[in-house]
Amino acid sequence: MPRKMTDQEWEAQNGSLSPEQVQARSLCWCCRGNGVLYTAFGGVQRTVPCPEKCANGRAGR
Ligand SMILES: [Zn+2]
Repeated sequence: MPRKMTDQEWEAQNGSLSPEQVQARSLCWCCRGNGVLYTAFGGVQRTVPCPEKCANGRAGR
């Protein structure tokens, strides 16, 4: 059974692309192509649908 991720590891799933890289790949600026945002606080780890209503992380609608 995999150990529980730390909040820091959880949020690291948001990726580390720079705004330039995101733009170059036509990804959504908000979720960086994930389609969801990873957020954690005090051990409560959740995913939030991208508020930009992008198409699974792709820029443009
Ligand atoms: Zn998005």
